[in-house]
Amino acid sequence: MKIHEYQAKEILKDYNVPVPAGVATTEVDEAVKAAEEMKANGATLFVVKAQIHAGGRGKGETKNSGASGVILCDTIDEVRDAAESMLGDVLVTKQTGEEGQKVKRIYVTDGVEIEQEFYLGILLDRAKSKNVIMVSTEGGMDIETVAEETPEKIVKEWVEPGMDLQHNQARHLAFALGLEGDAFKKAVKFIMALYNCYLETDANLVEINPLVLTPGGDVMALDAKMTFDDNALYRHSDIEKLRDKSEENPVELEASEFGLNYVNLDGNVGCMVNGAGLAMATMDIIKLSGGEPANFLDVGGSANAETVKNGFRIILEDENVQAILINIFGGIVRCDRVANGVIEAVKDPEIAQKVDDVPIIVRLQGTNAEEAKEIIDNSDLNVISAVLLKDAAAEVSNVLAPAS
Ligand code: ADP
Ligand code: MG
Repeated sequence: MKIHEYQAKEILKDYNVPVPAGVATTEVDEAVKAAEEMKANGATLFVVKAQIHAGGRGKGETKNSGASGVILCDTIDEVRDAAESMLGDVLVTKQTGEEGQKVKRIYVTDGVEIEQEFYLGILLDRAKSKNVIMVSTEGGMDIETVAEETPEKIVKEWVEPGMDLQHNQARHLAFALGLEGDAFKKAVKFIMALYNCYLETDANLVEINPLVLTPGGDVMALDAKMTFDDNALYRHSDIEKLRDKSEENPVELEASEFGLNYVNLDGNVGCMVNGAGLAMATMDIIKLSGGEPANFLDVGGSANAETVKNGFRIILEDENVQAILINIFGGIVRCDRVANGVIEAVKDPEIAQKVDDVPIIVRLQGTNAEEAKEIIDNSDLNVISAVLLKDAAAEVSNVLAPAS
């Protein structure tokens, strides 16, 4: 699960990770009021930042006003202008894609004088099965570019499972940033605190880009990205509440509400499969037969009529879908029940109207597969059944490019 920068900064504060003061709001007037209060507390520079679930805001551009998603302001009037230019507009960044993301909320934060910008990231290194902490002197930049072009500029420390981050590891990282004296000590403290935050919140990514050194020798997080392990959210109800569903892909969101694992892709063949491994194999088969998968959809091990129906609805929301391949292995679930589920779903008025010109190929294998095939063949619906995956694939080729 992703959260916004302003939410991540609230969490960091709770873990004694230094961040500049700030206020998140959806209203221009409130942004102005927040800046006035910050000014009364001695602030002389303000930064207005679009809160969307995507990075690259500083170099991004809003569609109507052409403003950036991160605007530095010297005066309260500039804060008002910045807030007006962002709120309600659509921000396009390298990470949002062309369609961009609507800015519904902004963060007004203290402007910090920057001596140097660094990168700091903590995530799980799956290949090593260890958490890794990465730092780089190339802060503020796209870290993927640094990794590609100058990988030696990224310094890493891996934490042994079951052990804490060791003080000497944090010192090694702070040293790699070229810090000395008080700033060095502050960076060590920062890294230790951030790792503790990462662990205790069950985050799977914490990225501070930039982490900055101020002319006064302070070390702070000017940007913060945090994502969390969905499977651990049940033990963090406070974090779960931070979910902003309006930032998520609506179809993927709908699927997750039905317990379906759905990822939208660019192809023309919708697929409904039980089990992630079988889903991957099915996507390969679709490609081999000349199609392109329109989605990844794992309906889970205990698919029933209801899941099949929801799966159909979700696949059909994608207008690129020209055929649907259902590939279910009846292990826990019986094939005849799935077959009945398919028929019931196709008869559903809402689905029936959409599948009229979308052929459905069903391949059911496993418990009661014979009965299932009979059920499908005896129905008078536009459903083609196949027993072998290769036959199913041939049917997919057929319906995509009918023999002339
Ligand atoms: P993004 O990564 O989405 O572009 P950042 O929060 O990293 O957004 O901001 C982009 C740049 O704007 C930073 O690299 C930094 O130079 C500047 N910036 C961001 N927040 C502040 C701040 N509070 N004070 C001063 N400069 C800032
Ligand atoms: Mg950033």
